[in-house]
Amino acid sequence: MDLKHLSVLYRGPLESCTYACPYCPFAKHHETPAEHRADGEALERFLRWVEAQPFTVSVLFTPWGEALAHARYQQAIVRLGRLPNVRQVAIQTNLSGRLDWTRDANLDKTGLWCTYHPGETSAERFLKRCTELDARGVRYSVGTVGLKRHLPEIEAMRAALPAHVYLWVNAYRPEERRATPEDVARLVAVDPLFEVNRRYRVRGQPCTAGEDAVSVEGDGTVRRCHFIERPLGNLYEQDVRTLLRPRPCSRAACDCHIGYAHVPALGLPDVFRDGLLARIPDPAAWTDPAALHALLERARAHP
Ligand code: SF4
Ligand code: SF4
Repeated sequence: MDLKHLSVLYRGPLESCTYACPYCPFAKHHETPAEHRADGEALERFLRWVEAQPFTVSVLFTPWGEALAHARYQQAIVRLGRLPNVRQVAIQTNLSGRLDWTRDANLDKTGLWCTYHPGETSAERFLKRCTELDARGVRYSVGTVGLKRHLPEIEAMRAALPAHVYLWVNAYRPEERRATPEDVARLVAVDPLFEVNRRYRVRGQPCTAGEDAVSVEGDGTVRRCHFIERPLGNLYEQDVRTLLRPRPCSRAACDCHIGYAHVPALGLPDVFRDGLLARIPDPAAWTDPAALHALLERARAHP
């Protein structure tokens, strides 16, 4: 396959976090020295793989836990951003770690997918981190889970964040059916694309995950996405290009940005462009009502 660009969603063995969210299995687990070593070795192997590829790569780190609090991930982002064959590098983070490493990062290529957990940090503290990102010129999005009991905090966060920062809200699935039209209206007022974040029926539908995007684990296991268990192969045992081809989706539903971003019928790249992996809308598209309307219409029309 003549591959020009591949998006890689990397998830190493790391399973530790600085926070204690009650709904999360990785809460407040501090990594042991053995875990630290294993995750660092897997990360180094992955970075060397990226460095050796003849095509362009974009990387999104999607850890089971908080990775950006560790120097090895901060340095990985710096290192990747300097590679000529890396287009974008992004990471999901709770923003609890230091940010001084961004001084050395290639900010044209770096994006942070930051999640605000109102039960774990104060709005004031989180906003201070956002102010620091702005002062350092780092692109980022802010997200939160649309729990009904957190609605006032979510609205306050929207009011406090600079207008150029996209605050996305993920529907909290267990509460979804109980949400009143008023709840939904409040969430849409915070996140104009709230309705895009829904469950899509995708079985048999085209999806470019497995064609121009893959999910990779620390041991090199390659899957088309994080949601389909069956491996395609191993990054370190074969040329990844031999694993890539168009395939219809085999799953009933897809309900996460990192998945349905690759469903061509939805056309998320039209709005997110280079910020697709970090969930940062392109500034021009974000201020173009026609582009946002078209995305919403496509999302509503999709089964
Ligand atoms: S910040 Fe994320 S990884 Fe950490 S406990 Fe909360 S949900 Fe889990
Ligand atoms: S639609 Fe979602 S679940 Fe299906 S292949 Fe694409 S990313 Fe994976």
